[in-house]
This record gives sequence, C-alpha cells and structure tokens, in this order.
Amino acid sequence: MAKITFLGAAGTVTGSKYLVEAEGKRLLVDCGLFEGSRELRQRNWDRLPIDPATIDWVLLTHAHIDHTGYLPRLTRGGFRGPIYANPATRELCNLLLPDSAHLQEEEAQYATRKCYSRHKPPLPLYTVAESQQTLTQFHDIPRTDAFQIGPQFSVRPHDAGHILGSTWLELTITEAGKKMLVVFSGDLGRYDQPILNDPESPTRADYLLCESTYGDRDHPPGDVAAELADAINQTAKRGGAVVIPAFAVGRTQTIMYYLKQLVGQKRIPDLPVYVDSPMAINATELYKNHPEDHDLDFSHQENNGDRDPLNLHEVHMTRSVEESKKINDVVAPCIIVSASGMASGGRILHHLAHRLPDSRSTVLLVGYQGEGTRGRQLLDGAKYLNLFGESVPVRARILELGQLSAHAGKSELLRWLSGFQSAPKQTFMIHGEPSGLNGLRDAIKAKFDWPVTIPEYEQSFDLTV
Ligand SMILES: [Zn+2]
Repeated sequence: MAKITFLGAAGTVTGSKYLVEAEGKRLLVDCGLFEGSRELRQRNWDRLPIDPATIDWVLLTHAHIDHTGYLPRLTRGGFRGPIYANPATRELCNLLLPDSAHLQEEEAQYATRKCYSRHKPPLPLYTVAESQQTLTQFHDIPRTDAFQIGPQFSVRPHDAGHILGSTWLELTITEAGKKMLVVFSGDLGRYDQPILNDPESPTRADYLLCESTYGDRDHPPGDVAAELADAINQTAKRGGAVVIPAFAVGRTQTIMYYLKQLVGQKRIPDLPVYVDSPMAINATELYKNHPEDHDLDFSHQENNGDRDPLNLHEVHMTRSVEESKKINDVVAPCIIVSASGMASGGRILHHLAHRLPDSRSTVLLVGYQGEGTRGRQLLDGAKYLNLFGESVPVRARILELGQLSAHAGKSELLRWLSGFQSAPKQTFMIHGEPSGLNGLRDAIKAKFDWPVTIPEYEQSFDLTV
C-alpha cells in the first residue's frame, strides 16, 4: 500500500520532507533544513529514520533552504539518486546550497575560535564540497508540463507565486494499477502582488498537503509603499540607518522594487542603498533569465531610465567581505538590505551588531520570523541580542512590515483551496506552528467541512484509492 511519512514541517514551519512510498520505491518530496530553536536544529544532526541510500528520487517544490537545505546531508548519508527540480529552482540551489554550507563552515570555525560549540571540535553540518556534490545530482524537469519520475510516480508542477521557480505539485501515484493524486502545496505566495504571478489554483486531489504558515491570520491591511516610506522618512529624520534583514531571493528584490518606486515618486529621499549579499545579487540576475515567473521588464536597464525596475544602476551591490565591512563606516541615513531574512546567519549579523545599539536606527522585519530566531527575538521586544557570542543592546527601533511576506495569508490560503471542486479524502496541515495549523484546520472545517489531520513528526499514513 502507498504510504506517506512526515519527516519535517510537521507541527513546525521548517525542515520540509515528505517521504512517499509505492511499490517498494521511495520518493522524497522536498528535503529541507530545520531552522529556529536548538531542539529543531538538533534534528539536522540526528540520524534520519530511514536510510538515505534507500531513497530513489527527490522532488523539490522550490529552492528555499527549509525545503532544500538538508540535501547535502542526504548525499552524505548515501543518497545517489536524481534530484528533480525546474531550471529556476536548480539555478537558485546552485547559489543557496553552497552558501548554506559556507555559513555552516564559518559558524564552526567561529565556534572553534570562541569555544562556544557543543560539538568538540565544532563541525559544520556539511561542507561546501559536499554541497557541490549534491548539485551534480540535480536534473531539470519542466516548469509546468507533466513529468514521469518512474512507473510509480508522475508529477505536474504549477506556479505557486512564492519565489522564482516556486511550484505546487500534483503527484500521481500508481500502485497495483490504481492511481491516486496527491497535491503538495509547497509554499504558496500571495495574490495581486508586484513582481510574481498569482498562485495557480488546484481543482482536485485525493490527498492534499497544505502549508499553514499564516493559517491563523491575514497580513495586516495597509499600503506597503506608504508604511515603508514612513519608516524610512522617520529614520532618515533621526539620522539613522534602516537595516532590513531580507531573504536574498524574493524579499530583497521586492524591497528594491518598492524603493525604486518611492524615490521615483519623491516619497522618500534618495538615500544610499546597500544590498549586501552576494547571493541576492546573483539571485537578482536569475530574474532576468526567468521572465516566465514575473512581470519585471529589464529590457531597458542599461538606459539608466525608468525601465530599470530594481534600480540596479544605482543600488550599491556589495559582493566582497571588505566592501561589506566598509558599510559600517557609512554615515547614516542609509538603507542596508542583507541576508538572512530571520537574522539566523549571514552578513546581516554584523550590520545588526553595528546598528542595533544606535537609537536613531530602525530594523525593519519584512518576512516570516521563525520561532527561536534572532528576528523573532527582535519582534518579541528583546532588549539584548546574542551576536557573535556577545550580548548587543537593542536600542534601534524594531518595526514589522507584515504585508511584504512571501506567504499567503489565511484568506489567501482559503482562496487557493476554493479551487477544489470536491473535497480531498484527507487534508494534511503542514508547514505551520501550532497556531497556524489549528487556525487553518478550523477555517477549513468551517468553510468546506473537509476531513483534516495535523500529522506529527515522523508519523506515517497509508494512502488508498
Ligand atoms: Zn519558501
């Protein structure tokens, strides 16, 4: 009998891994890293409950690390099969996985110097070399057309409107001549936003796995541009810096888009903008290669005119570490956009260490801040933040711009679910913290009266026709 096992993003947001088994074959959908609390991160080090060498294929919904960042561990554990993803996702993984490995190596080295690791000697979860090995296992699948993985599995991807290359998947499982359809929502984006397409709607599924990141709430109403302008103008008046932790892929480009608009409309002063993330710079390049996912027009970028949608000719894109460090010397007001988006690692940490003690500055949180991350601590009003083994006072203003989330809010999730013409036999709520999972479950029961389950970590379910 076909079976699904929840090896991540069950009862939490990160670590997406769903093992689907049919006729003795094993397909892993997504292979994400756990992020956030120490307990969750420990799972990245624990042995998987199944031998990675027995997995036949991996299939990815999109490139975010909480959906792909465990792949090098899988390879290390003996997985040698193909990793299926569309070209944009593969190209993003070419950036994201070595970067993730690099951060792991850096953190291990730093912990060695400062002696604060629990591992003796401190080890990276995986190395850059291991991430490169993993990348050789990638194989392209079509952006939207059906693709046969093996006799037991075929997939049809659809645009999820969440990041470049993001998909939700219709997986057809064939077991003993019978077919069943499992829909994996992946991460769903938002409707009527700049840059990315709206998520396509599903129409049918026997089983549905639905993300619930914002299952209990809608994003605050209000005009993103106006609030961003307000935050920047107030900070500029105080002579402070606006520091924006942002995912290198997606949020950074959205911020750049809004900044360009606001300067063009003279709603904010023309401040120096630093995008301090080599990955964000490389990811921005990928937007040019994949016009199928967005509505930005780069055709007139070289004219330095209005048709440079992200203002690439003016923004300071800093690649080298030296350039990055020099931003510390930039006299505010200025705007600094850097990764990671939850301040869990990356260059944003040294900008926070430098600017947080300055009461004139503002830290603008623009994406989801997972439990246990520094971003969440700031959001929750922490007075001190632990950075590089030191306690840094938080005197800067902390503001949240929830509208810029890359995730569908509750109403948008329900709008996406409204596409179904009949009830799935079972809907599994995944990729949410308990409040999000319970919130969306209750909303689905109230609106559609579907059977809904919230699976536990490592729980398995039989899939029947
Ligand atoms: Zn995502």
